[in-house]
This record gives sequence, structure tokens and C-alpha cells, in this order.
Amino acid sequence: MNMTCITTTFLADGREILYFDDAGTAERAPESLTDHRELPVRPDPGQLRFDALSREWVAVAAHRQSRTHLPPADRCPICPTTPANLTEIPAPDYDVAVFENRFPSLGPATSELPAALAWGTSTPAVGRCEVVAFTPEHTGSFADLGWRRTRTVIDAWAHRTEALSALPGIRQVFPFENRGAEIGVTLHHPHGQIYAYPYVTPRAAVLAAAAGAYFDASDGTATLAASVLQAERSDGSRMVLEGEHFSAYVPFAARWPLEVHLVPHRQVPDLAALSGAERDELAHLYPDLLRRFDALYPTPTPYIAAWHQAPLETEMRRAGQLHLQLTSPRRAADKLKYLAGSEAAMGAFINDITPESVAARLREVGSEVASEVASDVAGTTAGTATRTTTHTATRTTLTPEGAPA
Ligand SMILES: [Zn+2]
Repeated sequence: MNMTCITTTFLADGREILYFDDAGTAERAPESLTDHRELPVRPDPGQLRFDALSREWVAVAAHRQSRTHLPPADRCPICPTTPANLTEIPAPDYDVAVFENRFPSLGPATSELPAALAWGTSTPAVGRCEVVAFTPEHTGSFADLGWRRTRTVIDAWAHRTEALSALPGIRQVFPFENRGAEIGVTLHHPHGQIYAYPYVTPRAAVLAAAAGAYFDASDGTATLAASVLQAERSDGSRMVLEGEHFSAYVPFAARWPLEVHLVPHRQVPDLAALSGAERDELAHLYPDLLRRFDALYPTPTPYIAAWHQAPLETEMRRAGQLHLQLTSPRRAADKLKYLAGSEAAMGAFINDITPESVAARLREVGSEVASEVASDVAGTTAGTATRTTTHTATRTTLTPEGAPA
């Protein structure tokens, strides 16, 4: 049962803001949510330009250059509002808040894209970009939210996926979190984003085509995601954890020095389709994975947490599979992988670390974070015991193997 309480209102410039409150939080008085700021009218949207050479869209959003960049804590725009700091969230406190980005790459208008595409085609950058504030606390990380708050964030993602999917012209909804100044984060306060695109992104199109072809070849009896999960489980060398509803593994052909896929056992197109029991378990397993990333090195690991959801085109949805792709460019305590010639120009990845050694390390550090997970589970009524797979006891380290510098 979904106990998350939702309150919807608007900011001074007309942007929508939604409060998702943990089960048990007192109801909000609407008058306590008034935005008392004087805000300029919202900027004109940027442009979407069609690249005729690749048939891909590129968003050109020059107005984003003026967006807030690493403000001091007392000027943070997503902390709760105080008399001294009127923020984007005009409430004295909140649990999880979602609001339209003041400096969006896409939107605020939504509509269909032009049908005729050729060199020179451009259109206002329609779509929607939202910010998800995970917690009123300015410091910390997603991994530390605790089970109850994580569960509320999952409900917020699911709610926004469903609502944004229903907007005119939207083709794909993408919740994600960039964590770490090393990968371009401009606000320290724990937060994520949701992009609702008016087109299917290149990566989603490739994944949907592969999933659809596999599904058709089996006459609709098997999905690619389920077959890959089964193969990974029987091999075992790249498994990281297995639950009742979700499992995580390092993909056979991982692109990044650190990469894990967290996949549901049941085929669902998106987060909105997850059952209550699945969300309950996800609220344990996802932070568990994040803690493992942070346990690998003495300092927090920058990461990109990308929720792949099936595009909204009917033919791309029949075999579409929700999964989390958690990646980090970190290849050593003090080294990041940069996308250089082969990756940036050709999209051809070269990974200096074997997926099997990464999986072994992530299993190994699982015992270090297990006590935190255990206390987390003990603090809830919906705790789902999970186990770290132990297919191999080989101790390995994250060092480049077999690849010239
Ligand atoms: Zn803050």
C-alpha cells in the first residue's frame, strides 16, 4: 500500500512543485507553502536542433549558462526556506520535493516535434525537466537516506514517471542522479533530476530495438533482460547481490570502470509499474549498492545512477525492461576515466578493468556495509533479507589488467 502523501502547488513564477511526504508525516497546511519570492518570468525555451548526419536531436540551451553553480550552504536553493534564504522549496521543512527546473534543457512547453526532419530543422526545446530533492538535509548522500525516505523517493519517481508520460508529445521519461563535483554536479544538496524527452533518446532506441528483436525471435515467449539475468545468475562470476524481486550484476561487457545493473525479476516497463513489495525491496537494495560503491575507496565515489525505462512508443514498450545502470568513471582512488578519442568520437568503449574483478570487489565490500544494511532493515517493518552472492572467494583489486595505458 502506498502511504506516501502528495501535495501539489506552484512557485511564484508558475512552476509546479510537489511534496512527497513519508508515511506518518503530518499533513501540510497550504498557506505554509506560499512562495514569497519575486521571480523573473521564466526564460524562453532553448532549441532542439536536428542533426541530419546522425538523425539525433541536440538541445541547445544557452540560458542554462546562468544557472546556480556550487552555492555556499546558506544560499542553497533546495534547502527548506528560511527567512534569510528564500529557496526553490518554500516550506519550512519537507521530506521529498519535486519541482520544475528553473533552468531547464527542455520545456516548459510540451508538444509534438515536427514530422518532417532534414538538415536545418529546429524547434523550441519542448519537454520537461524536474529536480528531485531527496532530503531537507543539505549534506549527506542518497545511500544515507534510510529505508523510509528511500521508499518515498521511489514513490515520487513512480508518480512523476506516470504523470510526465501522460504529457503531450513525451516519448521517454528518465530519472537520474549525478553524484559528485568530479562529474559536473552544480549543487551539493542530495538531489536528482527527471527528464521527460519529446523523442526517444539514442541509447533507449538501441536498447529497445535489441529487446524487441529478441522478443520477436522467441515469438513473444522470452525477454532479453530475463535471459541475460538468468545467464548471469548461472555463471555467477559477475553477480553482486540477489534479492527476491531484484538482482544486481556487473554486465558481461561493462563499459565503465565501475558499472552495475540492478534489474527486476519481473518484466516491467518502468518504475510506475513496480508493486509495493518490489518498491519495498528496491528501497533496501539500491542504497546497498550505493554503499558498496562508496566502500571501494577512502572517499565517496562519484556516480551516475540512470533509470532506464521503456520508451512510450507502443512498439518499443512490449519488451522494454526497467533497469538501473549505476556507473562511475572512477578507475582508482585518485583517477577518473575520461571519454577520449575512441569513446567520445566513436562510441567505442575500452574498459581497463575486468567486470569480474569489479564484481568480486563489490561482493567483498558487501560485508563491510552489511551491518549498516542490517540496522536499516531492523528499523522497518517491510524489511527484506538479501544475500550477497558468494560464487567466488578470489580476492581481487581494482587495478588495470591486460590493457596498455
Ligand atoms: Zn541545501
